[in-house]
Amino acid sequence: MEMIGHGGKPLVERVIADKTEAKKKIAGLKTMPASRQMATECISIGYGFFSPLEGFMKRADVDAVCKKMELADGTLWSIPIVFDISDKEIADYGVKEGESILLTYDDNPLAIFEVEEIFTYPKDEMAFDVYGTKEDKHPGVARTYAYKDKFLGGKITLVNEPKIREPFTPYFLTPRQHRMKFKELGWQRIVAHQTRNVPHSGHEWLMKHAYIAAHGELPVESMEVIGKAISGVLVNCIVGEKRAGDYIDEAIVLTQDGLKKHGYFREDIHMTTMTFWDMRYAGPKEAVHHSIIRANLGLTHHMFGRDHAGVGTYYESYEAHRLLMSIPREKLFITPIFVLEWVYCPHCGEVTCIGLCGHWNEHQKFSGTKIRSILIDEVKPTRLIFRPEIFDIVMDAAKKYGFGSPFVTPEYLAKAKPAFSIEPL
Ligand SMILES: [Zn+2]
Repeated sequence: MEMIGHGGKPLVERVIADKTEAKKKIAGLKTMPASRQMATECISIGYGFFSPLEGFMKRADVDAVCKKMELADGTLWSIPIVFDISDKEIADYGVKEGESILLTYDDNPLAIFEVEEIFTYPKDEMAFDVYGTKEDKHPGVARTYAYKDKFLGGKITLVNEPKIREPFTPYFLTPRQHRMKFKELGWQRIVAHQTRNVPHSGHEWLMKHAYIAAHGELPVESMEVIGKAISGVLVNCIVGEKRAGDYIDEAIVLTQDGLKKHGYFREDIHMTTMTFWDMRYAGPKEAVHHSIIRANLGLTHHMFGRDHAGVGTYYESYEAHRLLMSIPREKLFITPIFVLEWVYCPHCGEVTCIGLCGHWNEHQKFSGTKIRSILIDEVKPTRLIFRPEIFDIVMDAAKKYGFGSPFVTPEYLAKAKPAFSIEPL
């Protein structure tokens, strides 16, 4: 099966699945613990979510990403993927250029890191080039400023595959597994819906809009038969670092999948999966990054809505659309689908796209705050706005995984386990 990833290059797969071989490879290596974020990025590199990256970036790549939005070899890339380390850690763990080190997580072997380069990079420059601001109120800028003294660049090989916990287990597919699933389903076109949300019907219509747009001129005849669909929508949930007030990841994946389970999408045109990624809130640059990940998953199209991956007022509503439009098609390995907001129109008595009906004075936007208060009050909203089955799933997830709340609370931050674990090899 053809496995071509972003950049038109073969999909990177750097995983030693055989435990005996893995044990042989790591014998005698110095070890160093990896943080949760670094561990998830090792997992993403190993399976090819970040293809063509084979490891953490070296200085030349970071510089090209910051200055030209590309890797040193000219491949489109928008966000530095770096491994930061303090001088003390370099000394304590005996990290040296040209030597391999075993990264551990939860004291168990995770990945071999071939340290090729130890380097510094000015953090304020990196922050400004990626986020367009130096204000540390921006969470991505704050993350950049929090990087330690130095960076390590070099190849990563996963030696111990992660165990994904419930309820995430069925939703974690590697890029290879995504592609095999698409092949099995017979999907020729697949459009990504990027999300960190529990879906209201505005989101549902965004997906339906994107699905129809991606299907385009393909024939529809065979699709009258369930199981014969030739295109699909993939909801790819971002699972990673949470901030208080975010939806809990469990509620996100279960409700998105619930749209299919309860028939709002036909079984053969909808699928929910997840990708580990700590949101940088880089707006347009993050939209490019999401398009890279989804190209690696084997998707053909990617939906981008209003204020994609933005935060506060740092980016204009459609800045991501403009950046994506400016990228030559031979560099972007996925077709973007630009969508407007879907709203409730009381005059039409239905959910509609703001670009469609003429009652724009009467439109009621889906307000995150309103949906949030509905969920907090546990009052079932009208099905036109929020599907009752989805409401029930949110309430169940809150009880089962959220310590009573569908939103991230201090208790959730303190007690919830990461979605993955690394077991003894
Ligand atoms: Zn209307």
